[in-house]
Amino acid sequence: MSTPDATHDPALRSWVASANDAATDFPIQNLPFGVFAHDANDAGRIGVAIGDRVVSLRALHAEGWLSGDGEVAGRHCAGSDLNGLLALGPRYWRALRTQLSELLRDGSTAARTPGLADRIMVNAAEVSMRLPAAIGDYTDFYASIQHATNVGAMFRPDNPLLPNYKWVPIGYHGRASSIVPSGTAVRRPSGQTKPADAATPVVGPTKALDYEAEIGLFVGPGSALGDPVAIGDAESHLFGVCLLNDWSARDVQTWEYQPLGPFLSKSFATTISPWVVTLDALIPFRVPPSDRPPGDPRPLPYLTPPPGAAAGGIDLSIEVTLRSALMRDRGNPAVRLSRSNARDLYWTPAQLVTHHTSNGCNLRPGDLLASGTISGPTRDAVGSLLELTRRGAEPLALPTGETRGFLEDGDEVVMRGTCERQGAMRIGFGECAGRIAPAHGGGTGR
Ligand code: CA
Repeated sequence: MSTPDATHDPALRSWVASANDAATDFPIQNLPFGVFAHDANDAGRIGVAIGDRVVSLRALHAEGWLSGDGEVAGRHCAGSDLNGLLALGPRYWRALRTQLSELLRDGSTAARTPGLADRIMVNAAEVSMRLPAAIGDYTDFYASIQHATNVGAMFRPDNPLLPNYKWVPIGYHGRASSIVPSGTAVRRPSGQTKPADAATPVVGPTKALDYEAEIGLFVGPGSALGDPVAIGDAESHLFGVCLLNDWSARDVQTWEYQPLGPFLSKSFATTISPWVVTLDALIPFRVPPSDRPPGDPRPLPYLTPPPGAAAGGIDLSIEVTLRSALMRDRGNPAVRLSRSNARDLYWTPAQLVTHHTSNGCNLRPGDLLASGTISGPTRDAVGSLLELTRRGAEPLALPTGETRGFLEDGDEVVMRGTCERQGAMRIGFGECAGRIAPAHGGGTGR
C-alpha cells in the first residue's frame, strides 16, 4: 500500500476527545507505537498514543477486540519491546492499524462499551516512556548533502564534498547500548583532545558539545546474512520513524576521527523520541526525493528505484529549540535554533537499507538506521551548532545575554517533528529532548 486509505481520512474523529485537538501530535490518523511504564519496577508494555492517552495493546488484546492478522499482531505485543511486532511485517502492522483506527473512531462499538477506556488506556502524563525496541545494531548515515557540504567546507573550502559522496551512502556503525529515550539526562563526556596551540593532547570534559538533528528508521523484518535487499523491497523492511539526536563532542571528534571515523565522540549518548510513527501513518507525506542537481551522477542500478516505485522521500519538518538553565530560571521560553526537512536528504530510506545490505550484511528487527544530520540549504535550516555557529566562531545570542558556540551544562535541546500537507491531518512525533548534566568530577567544560 502506498496510497492513503480510510485510516488517513482527515475527517476522522476519535471518541478520545484530546485526539481531536488541532494541536495534538497524535490524532487518530497517526497511531504511533511505543513502550510505556508506570514506575521504575515496571518492565514496560507496548502502547499506541492517541491524543493525551496511551492504549495498552496487551489490555486491548486481552479484551478480545482484535481479529485475524490484527489479533496475531496484538499477540506479539505482549512483551516489553516492539521487536516481536517488528518481525511480523507490513501485512500484520497494517491490519493492526486498521483495527485500532476502527476501534478508536467516533461512533465505534468500542466507544459505546462501558468502562472500556479505563481498562485499556492510561494518561500519557502518568507514565514514562522507555526505548521502543531492543536495539541490536545502530548505524548512522550521512545522507544530507547540505550537511556534508557545510562540514566539508570547514576543512576543505575549495572541495567540500569527497568524491565518493554522490555515489555511495556514507555511514558508520554506531553504538546501540548508549541510545536513550527522550528526557534522559546527557552527561557531558570527557575525552582526549588536541588543542591547536598545545604540543600534546589533553584529557578532560569536552568544550565543544553539540547536537545533531536526525531521523531514525526502525527495521522491521530482518534480512538473511548474505542476502542483499533489493531496492524495490527495501521499505518492507522498515517499520517506522523516530526523531534522533546524535550528541557529538566536536573537539574529541576532530582529534580521533582519522582514519576510521567517529568513535568516543559520539558513543556516549544518542537520544531518540519514544514514539515510532509508522511508514503507514506517513503515507500522505511521502514525496519524491529531492532533485539531484544537473551534472550529478544518477544512482547506480542497485540504488535506483524500479519504474513506478512509490515516492521515496518523507516531508517531515524538524525543529530544534534550546533553553538554558538561566532561561528556565527567568521564565524565558526556549528559542528555535533551526528548522530543516527530511525531504532534502540526498539518499532515501530505501537506498540506505539497500546499500546497508548490499554486501550481505544482515539487518535484524529493532535495528536502528539514522539519517545523519539533516540540514537544508539556508542558514536557519542547519541541524547542528557546528554549522550554525561555524565551529563556535559565530556564537548565538540568547535572550538572557548568554552566548552559545556549543552547549553548556544545563542546556536543554528539544527536537520536534511534524508532517503537514494540504488535504491530510497534521501528525507529529512528540519530543526528542535531552538536558546536559555536568561532567563527572564537577568540570563544566569551560
Ligand atoms: Ca550523526
